[in-house]
Amino acid sequence: MIVSRNPATGETLVRVDAHDASIIEQRLARAHAAQKNWAQVPLCDRAVVLQRVAQELRQLKDDLARTITLEMGKPFAESIAEVEKCAWNFDHYADAATAMLADEIVPSGASDSRIVHDPLGLVLAVMPWNYPLWQVLRAAAPILVGGNGLVLKHASNVPQCALAIEALCRRAGLPDGLVTALLVGAERVPALIADDRISAVTFTGSTPAGRSIAAAAGQSLKKQVLELGGSDPFIVLADAEIETAAAIAVKARFQNTGQSCIAAKRFIVEQPVADRFVEAFCEHVRKLVVDDPLKAGTTQGSMARTSLREELDVQVRASIQEGARLLLGGRPVPGPGAFYEPTVLDHMRPEMTAAREETFGPAAAIIRVRDADEALLVANGTPFGLGAAVWTTDLDRAARLARKVDAGAVFVNGLVASDPRLPFGGIKASGYGRELGRLGLLEFMNAKTVWTGPARA
Ligand code: NAP
Repeated sequence: MIVSRNPATGETLVRVDAHDASIIEQRLARAHAAQKNWAQVPLCDRAVVLQRVAQELRQLKDDLARTITLEMGKPFAESIAEVEKCAWNFDHYADAATAMLADEIVPSGASDSRIVHDPLGLVLAVMPWNYPLWQVLRAAAPILVGGNGLVLKHASNVPQCALAIEALCRRAGLPDGLVTALLVGAERVPALIADDRISAVTFTGSTPAGRSIAAAAGQSLKKQVLELGGSDPFIVLADAEIETAAAIAVKARFQNTGQSCIAAKRFIVEQPVADRFVEAFCEHVRKLVVDDPLKAGTTQGSMARTSLREELDVQVRASIQEGARLLLGGRPVPGPGAFYEPTVLDHMRPEMTAAREETFGPAAAIIRVRDADEALLVANGTPFGLGAAVWTTDLDRAARLARKVDAGAVFVNGLVASDPRLPFGGIKASGYGRELGRLGLLEFMNAKTVWTGPARA
């Protein structure tokens, strides 16, 4: 049984039977057949169907956003923005895929030698609940435009989002079964990966689950892209625009109720401006409105599950015991729902719990450092390497520092965010491979060399 609960109220929304072995078999067989046909459809025609998916998303925006908010608790306005971004992603790949997948002529000793891009087949997508539409559809657009199919194992707390994605893809004109949702628990994943009809795996989620999936995919020798956890540094140097940095810092930490892989989690601030930054940061945090996520004006909703709230609370309490100074929040909000107070921990040290581990909720860790060298040391002193931000008015210095930060992306004087035009992904325990941009499209294509003789003398 898969149960969808509204985390803001604790109410059960729906209970659905998990798919059993025979339904999984039917659905896999249909998806496999659909992909074989789809791969024969010319790229320009596939792109047209992607545009229709974008239109469908925009038409259904309100309903989809409501489903997102009901199942995982983020503010409705953020759910609307999420659906709009999915539509943008589909439009982007519909427009750009022809150029991205054009044959590449590579001069060699042949009469003609080139790289052509063929689809790999059916891609299993194991996905998390935090952006329940975006995570799936950011992976789906390049996978589909390339001629692949997608089998979705979504997080168990968002089954209605999973079914909505499947339905909207069908309504938009993608062949029946090309995007197939399997309502199954995590225990089914290894067998799915091993199934001969699955060619590759894309996973977004926690680092421990990523390790299991990597092991299973390795055993079957299947291509994999892993988008895992993060503990992004947000470096504020003494010459930064402090007011702007503080305002963006609060957005970077608290949007999506702090449950984002690329949320800034460690604020590493040069000592001379630390007091000013902390004061401005706290001022913005105090303005956050924690309330019913469906209510207009709410800027921080409920966390997605009470168990996640407990995990965050344990990390906050441990950090206080280790010597951090609690400036704001630090407790679950009493009453039904998984709300947590917006929390600020100052005077954190890198070895304290909330700096060492990924915190997946509304809690900011501020680490004061002597200078830029120490900032870099602290920023890189983590097992993760997803995103990072550097704030300074000296752009040459920023460029030098950006090259030294261990991360998949560094944003200078800006909010770290995914963008369909730019590759997205991590290094170290944040995973490997890329999504979005051309690199994301090529991940699930076979870059095939075609050599045509006779060889030239
Ligand atoms: P999670 O527990 O890893 O779950 C993600 C998905 O994996 C769910 O569908 C889950 O299924 C499944 N799963 C869990 N354990 C598994 C296992 N051992 N084998 C196979 N599948 C398994 O992650 P989460 O708590 O939902 O999401 C939060 C984490 O995701 C954070 O660490 C965050 O940083 C990361 N994340 C990363 C990115 C990125 O792009 N790098 C984006 C968003 C989130 P069930 O729901 O059925 O358990």
